[in-house]
Amino acid sequence: TTAEAHVKTQVETHCPYCALQCGMTLGPAAEVAPRQFPTNAGGLCQKGWTSPALLASPARLTTPLIRSGGELRPASWDDALDLIADRLTTLQREHGKDSVAIFGGGGLTNEKSYLLGKFARVALGTSQIDYNGRFCMSSAAAAGMKAFGLDRGLPFPLTDLAGADVIVLVGANPAETMPPFVQHLRGAAAKGGLVVVDPRRTPTAEQANLHLAPAPGTDLALALGILHATVADGLLDQAYVDGRTTGFGPAWRVAAAYWPERVERITGVSAADQRRVAAMLARADNAYVLTARGAEQHATGVDTVSAWINLALAHGLPGRAGSGYGCLTGQGNGQGGREHGQKADQLPGYRKIADPAAREHVAGVWGVPAESLPGPGRSAYELLDALGTEDGPRALLVFGSNVVVSAPRSAHVADRLSELDFLVTADLVLSETSALADVVLPVTQWAEEDGTMTNLEGRVLLRRKAINPPEGVRTDLDVLAALAVRLGQPPERFPADAETVFTELRAASAGGPADYSGVSYERLRAGEALYWPVPGTEHPGTPRLFLDSFAHPDGRARFVPVEHTGPAERPDTEFPLVATTGRVLQHYQSGAQTRLVPELADAVPEACVEVHPDTAERAGLTDGDLAVVTSRRGEVTARVRCVTSMRPEVVFLPFHFPGEQRANLLTNPALDPTSRMPEFKVCAVRLGPQSGK
Ligand code: SF4
Repeated sequence: TTAEAHVKTQVETHCPYCALQCGMTLGPAAEVAPRQFPTNAGGLCQKGWTSPALLASPARLTTPLIRSGGELRPASWDDALDLIADRLTTLQREHGKDSVAIFGGGGLTNEKSYLLGKFARVALGTSQIDYNGRFCMSSAAAAGMKAFGLDRGLPFPLTDLAGADVIVLVGANPAETMPPFVQHLRGAAAKGGLVVVDPRRTPTAEQANLHLAPAPGTDLALALGILHATVADGLLDQAYVDGRTTGFGPAWRVAAAYWPERVERITGVSAADQRRVAAMLARADNAYVLTARGAEQHATGVDTVSAWINLALAHGLPGRAGSGYGCLTGQGNGQGGREHGQKADQLPGYRKIADPAAREHVAGVWGVPAESLPGPGRSAYELLDALGTEDGPRALLVFGSNVVVSAPRSAHVADRLSELDFLVTADLVLSETSALADVVLPVTQWAEEDGTMTNLEGRVLLRRKAINPPEGVRTDLDVLAALAVRLGQPPERFPADAETVFTELRAASAGGPADYSGVSYERLRAGEALYWPVPGTEHPGTPRLFLDSFAHPDGRARFVPVEHTGPAERPDTEFPLVATTGRVLQHYQSGAQTRLVPELADAVPEACVEVHPDTAERAGLTDGDLAVVTSRRGEVTARVRCVTSMRPEVVFLPFHFPGEQRANLLTNPALDPTSRMPEFKVCAVRLGPQSGK
């Protein structure tokens, strides 16, 4: 049974990967063609063009696997589901409800995210659920909530960027992560207004009119320096600050101590360039500040994003037509994935699980007593770190995530997984995480199922089923429905049909911050552009938020006072360099999908470590050598790539690769106190030749 044989006709759909969710069609021979859609305007990147190879991958699993005698062996669906239900029931009876945990993913559809949260709270009654979006953009979400009272990645359509005079892009490399995005930066670049803030001279930084390269972990100080210059040079938008914000005084009291010359010493970015950015933002009629993972993935990620939002507020950008602040979501459903209840502290509609009114509403939709719903659970890394410990979960179900590659301090995470009594994964292929499981369930992907995604603009999209899945494979919704019945739930409580689940999601989200009640498959099929909130079937959606007021009760945005404290781990004599991690064009996240695509795997088959040639030479290395990069948590083997634009104290590793090439063997799980985001972007390392192991 080949994928080709099942394609019905030309089906309009969206790419399986990132949050740009480029529009594409799938044709009768499973061939992809880009289609006109506002976010990609007819463009696709290599990942999108080659995505049909995922459907026909010979590595696909088509039967459940059960571990027996140390080996994963093919089994029937009934045997696998019966075994899971039996083991979970026994563990919960003996050790309590929280002995079973769930780990979800930001690539799962809205329907899966929703049903997974409901499955945890109702079918299992566990508080222990979180997802990999915690590693992705939880810091921007928390900072957005603080500043605006509501978090939607981009609170305006992406196409608005075309009219910008100035765009300050912080810690984002869309030229590799989402190449069609770059066309939205061209207007500002043509006017000399594209500023890229990144310690590396990335392909995106190459296109900038001004590239600021702060030392890793100092971008918060850089934002303070530009804010200082804004005020000191008389460039503050006083009318906006007075009329639409509160809290400027305390924020300024901190920033007052970060004059540009001092910030130059902390960051390495010249005082003149800081003043230049302040002047560019002040002069522009239309300007945007956009942040991404580079700002967020720190133990001070929330404060770092807050610092950039403060700067945007000082220039009067958020909530003004043609200007704004936004966060670029990364994962395909990074936005929707955090709204529907797979996050430890949330219920559907972006409601807080500790809020009694939210519990009452959602419990009503679910037909269960509010007091039966558990409270907040552990955040993603804390959950993984607790697995198999005395108080921690003894069983874990993983959907849409490959934590052995993507979690920080990943050797430790793999150790924790091995301490579990029972590990279940739902997967396309035998990923590095699934290889450790006791039961692996083969599930559908992308073009083999219906479902909605919410893109980086907060626009809800319908991803249509284009082809039948391979025989033997089921949808995640089907898996949850079948398990729920085995756990004693009435069948009607856990529907497996995506549109039916979405209808319930609409009711559960009604009245919440992310209100989907007016979104329907019918409206999406008709091509309506629906940005949440959509509080009613006649409501046109909300492309632009905050134009009249922000979501705090007084309608004003908040300045948040933030102080530069720097990274949790600093270089020393033992580990004299700073490692930072990121992405390459050809691969997506843990690489579990893109490593299956021959064209992408051939183009970039292995990890590299980018390093300045002088630094390489000092370590006894030259371009193309195999190097060992060592941190306090582990060591990685990667091929040296000498890059003259690298800061001499910094090395860069992409994190898409398995085994000894896993960049996350090195990373530091120091967590942000609010978002619980780990510090993926900075850790202290040393570099040496492989023979020096
Ligand atoms: Fe578009 Fe992202 Fe897919 Fe590339 S990976 S085609 S940028 S959605």
